[in-house]
Amino acid sequence: MNAVFRIAQLGVVLGGAFLILQGFAVIGMSVALMACWYYLFDRQLNRVVPVNVQPIGEKTARFHENCFIADLHADVCLWRRDLMSRHRRGHVDLPRLRAGNVALQFVTVPTKLVISPRFPRLFFSDLFFWGALLSLQRPDTWFSAAARARLQLRRLACWIEQSGGAIRMVSSRGELNELSERRGNNEDVIGVMLGLEGAHVLRGRLDVPWLAAQGFRVVGITHFNDNQFGDSAHGVSRRGLKPAGRELVRQLDNHSITIDLAHASAALIDDVLEMHSQGELSRPVLVSHTGIKGKHDHRRNISDEHAVAIASAGGLIGITLFAPGLPRADLAAVGESISYTVKLLDGAGLEGARHVAIGSDFDGAVRTVVDVAGWGRITEELLKPLHGLDPEQVEWIVGGNIRNFFAQNLPD
Ligand SMILES: [Zn+2]
Repeated sequence: MNAVFRIAQLGVVLGGAFLILQGFAVIGMSVALMACWYYLFDRQLNRVVPVNVQPIGEKTARFHENCFIADLHADVCLWRRDLMSRHRRGHVDLPRLRAGNVALQFVTVPTKLVISPRFPRLFFSDLFFWGALLSLQRPDTWFSAAARARLQLRRLACWIEQSGGAIRMVSSRGELNELSERRGNNEDVIGVMLGLEGAHVLRGRLDVPWLAAQGFRVVGITHFNDNQFGDSAHGVSRRGLKPAGRELVRQLDNHSITIDLAHASAALIDDVLEMHSQGELSRPVLVSHTGIKGKHDHRRNISDEHAVAIASAGGLIGITLFAPGLPRADLAAVGESISYTVKLLDGAGLEGARHVAIGSDFDGAVRTVVDVAGWGRITEELLKPLHGLDPEQVEWIVGGNIRNFFAQNLPD
């Protein structure tokens, strides 16, 4: 795959040079630039807020080392990046996962983002078309969401293989328990779990049994666009589940896949919660990466009422690490959003700290407050007395809750 990419890179550089020599300077430069767009996109879109880097205190560092750190959402394999080496661009790679003491990292697969709802079916209105073309990805990924999903799966498989056992797929309860045990023995092993961001790829051969067989254990019904199953929080009509969506939710649950309500319209969240309350869903739902409206009123964030309803149904809320999920792009805003959500759930008679987790959205074309190596800073922030969380609650929020949730909801 890499050799083909290098040839394509050489091809556009030579083609660009030829056009420049023929007098077409602007077109030639644009063509030649395609050799490095993959790098520029990654570098410009996946940024980290600059911080004044004071080392973490020794006591906090030791506490963090003993936590099972887990993250509900990162689009790691969307980018052409050697995940075995440490990079200054992007948010996640193996050395930085190790530096952050991460035990379990979700790898989420996004495949489409239509920018003009007026032309939802036209390929040039899909940002992923431009990303794939300009990054010199295989031509089948220019037009096909399914091909993009397959490419990201191949990248993940390749990473797992290269890691020589340091990265392991977790798709069953047994694998999660084994990971937990091995982390407890200080072994160098990191689990990855697979999530899908937007179910629009599910047609033809990419159906629910295929997803389950690939190891997907979390599926978001919608991403940025309305689809055949239901409406997005960012969509046009913002209605709820369509009949095909209800069928999909049942099928996913039957295949031991958890529903992710991130990016879902309010009506869709209501519909899924109603299915849960009527016993049509055997497992609780989660929101993999969100903010909370009571703290920051933004379209991508869930309402306080939904947070309470989701937690009451046994669900998990992953607070994200970037604005506008957060009220501001800084560490204090992460602490404030989390403590706000915990208190909100406590006030509703729940044990709030049992239902809140972190879904970073690393590598999701966002500017996060830390990269994955900076996880210790999240722990440090949450331990500050002003957030009112005790150390045990912090341990749950930075990963313990995710481990417990999937220990209950993964297949055997
Ligand atoms: Zn997202």
